[in-house]
Amino acid sequence: MIVIFLGPPGSGKGTQAAMISKEFNLKILSTGDLLRSEMSAQTDIGIKIKEVVNSGKLVADEIVLEIIEKNFRKNVQTNGFVLDGFPRTIIQAQKLNVLLDHSGRKVDFVIELNVDQEYLLERLTNRFQCKKCGASYNKIYKPTKTLGVCDVCGSKEFIVRDDDKAEVIKKRFKEYKKLTEPLLPYYNAQGNLYQIDAKQEPQRVFEEISSILKNVLT
Ligand code: AMP
Repeated sequence: MIVIFLGPPGSGKGTQAAMISKEFNLKILSTGDLLRSEMSAQTDIGIKIKEVVNSGKLVADEIVLEIIEKNFRKNVQTNGFVLDGFPRTIIQAQKLNVLLDHSGRKVDFVIELNVDQEYLLERLTNRFQCKKCGASYNKIYKPTKTLGVCDVCGSKEFIVRDDDKAEVIKKRFKEYKKLTEPLLPYYNAQGNLYQIDAKQEPQRVFEEISSILKNVLT
């Protein structure tokens, strides 16, 4: 099974992708996370993309496709994938179809997380992560239970993503509108696009997505 999450920055793709991958036993592939690990490991790719990512622009299709292909090959035996942040352009979507065709798979569900931009800006500028385990929090909507201590691993060190700054966020929204939104009619025409109100509580969003997947699968 292949599930794609589409939605503007901060719409909750990462959170929902993690919950759905666990519930349906799917391998999660987040291109944002994969690109950030290349950057922190300072690989050739990481060095090349750092400026682009930190400016809020999209990384070149060829680079992202190379990373996706490598990860598909590494996980041929998997039950399926949850794709978080990929595809983000029509070219990536077309290449994904070709890649899936080769392994006898297809895109089964495209979940669009809908939230208005004003609310997202507030979500993103208050977002922070545990430096050790990557658990994500929000100063307003999801603070740690104990101030300054990660709920998951107990670490006291946190980071803010370089691209979660107001000017960069605006650029990321623009890129989403220009390059990623055209994927909505593209997948709608294929009949597998499902829209979810993602302003709701994450648990409620998860329940809606799960019930769509279960209904279609049974
Ligand atoms: P994300 O964590 O999904 O918000 O992605 C963070 C940044 O990584 C984006 O703003 C892009 O610069 C880059 N990125 C992630 N996924 C892609 C993709 N599929 N295509 C191009 N750039 C991407």
